[in-house]
Amino acid sequence: MDSLDEFGVSQALASLHSGRISSLELTQACLSKIERHEPDLHAFITLTPEKALAAARNADELFIRLRREQQPFPELLGLPLAVKDVLCLQDVRCTCGSRILENFIAPFSATAVQKLLDAGVVPLGKTNTDEFAMGSSTENSAYGPTHNPWDFSRVPGGSSGGSAAAVAARLVPAALGTETGGSVRQPASFCGVTGIKPTYGRVSRYGLVAYGSSLDSLGCLARTAEDVEILFHQMAGYDQMDSTTIDRPVPDRVCGRDRDLKGLKIGIPSQYFIKGIQPAVEQAVRLAITEMERLGAEISEVSLTHTEQALPVYYLIAPAEASANLARYDGVRFGLRLPGADLQEMFTKSRGRGFGAEVKRRIMLGTYALSAGYYEAYYGQAQKVRTLIKNDFDEVFRSVDAIAAPVAPTTAFKLGEHRDDPLAMYLEDVFTLPANLAGVPAIAFPVGFDEARLPIGMQLMAAPFREEILFRLAYVYQQSTDWHLCKPPILN
Ligand code: GLN
Repeated sequence: MDSLDEFGVSQALASLHSGRISSLELTQACLSKIERHEPDLHAFITLTPEKALAAARNADELFIRLRREQQPFPELLGLPLAVKDVLCLQDVRCTCGSRILENFIAPFSATAVQKLLDAGVVPLGKTNTDEFAMGSSTENSAYGPTHNPWDFSRVPGGSSGGSAAAVAARLVPAALGTETGGSVRQPASFCGVTGIKPTYGRVSRYGLVAYGSSLDSLGCLARTAEDVEILFHQMAGYDQMDSTTIDRPVPDRVCGRDRDLKGLKIGIPSQYFIKGIQPAVEQAVRLAITEMERLGAEISEVSLTHTEQALPVYYLIAPAEASANLARYDGVRFGLRLPGADLQEMFTKSRGRGFGAEVKRRIMLGTYALSAGYYEAYYGQAQKVRTLIKNDFDEVFRSVDAIAAPVAPTTAFKLGEHRDDPLAMYLEDVFTLPANLAGVPAIAFPVGFDEARLPIGMQLMAAPFREEILFRLAYVYQQSTDWHLCKPPILN
């Protein structure tokens, strides 16, 4: 049995529900763990200990009352949770990793956050992220990078790197993350935890600060597929505040149901096992696929022909949408305002000081791609190729239930390794971007270690709204392997 401060979600909930531990004890254990490791990790931008302790005390009182009245408990009552700092949590600052929102206090909670609060979670704080979620390492955070708990000299991945590091270091049982192009899966992979990127439209984006609106989705990270599924189940569903959410039933929870993978077909796309991929990564992913075959899954080769185009397509569409979304930070309505002689100078100074280098690069790229005369050649063309990428997935999902692939071509790289080479950084996203462009759900989970004992992750993708297939596959795999139980050396 793990000590109190190493509880995962299901373990914590079982102990809370049985009355064996109180939410206050669990929350205090998390807070003291954070105090111990935060100086090395820097997983958080803002901590909310008073809010957390108050929520934990409320949860404990509610447990007592509901027990007395023999009423059911809200499903997540008393569970500590960290929230990525691009999601609004009412009355807490939401910086998005940017100076421009350094003093911005969220006036409401994001729908998904509110659903979790209604289910009883205890918010511990806001986790570090690349500025406006633009990046793959958290090095673009204006508040300094997060360090990987497996090796402090390495990045935790990004942009949800703070959330992944916090879960991996057992600072919290679970954390929320967001994806535009891999920002849950890649940090999950680099830190050895499990993370889901749901179908586009499955979870409301209301209260998620927009990056690329046609790509953004909200997910979560925890240690196991079972734990991730518990949170996903609470977050998912139609929201009248987000017209892109889809009114479809959320599938019943499947973790704990099956012991094998009989009847499931998994496709292996050759385009994801390319030259340049770290050999240990390919080997671990192929071994995991063999294990799934042993567990009853049927394996076949498939082809996602336009995979190679995903990178250029994404790096046109995402910056184009970002350039439009970020126009709202003008010093007038939100955040930082620097005085100027006239309006124009006030805009220029506020944006010039408030945004970091990568955000400015994306705004310039996006504005260029959308400008008259270039629009058709760049943005319009990218949208057409995006459809081809989506068609590839539709075609493949006619014959298989899931697609298996590495999450990233490498394990966690060194801090600073890609600092002066944005293209090398963008290449880290080559395997995660297609799922966002196609809007399909994907799950990442640990399947081994490389020679430097850094975690290796694999991902599974499924047809839209078939998240339950992903949970089943990852759950059954985790029942027969123990990669997800391995702890970073700082915990030994
Ligand atoms: N690394 C990608 C980018 O920089 C994806 C980020 C994300 O998913 N938010 O855009």
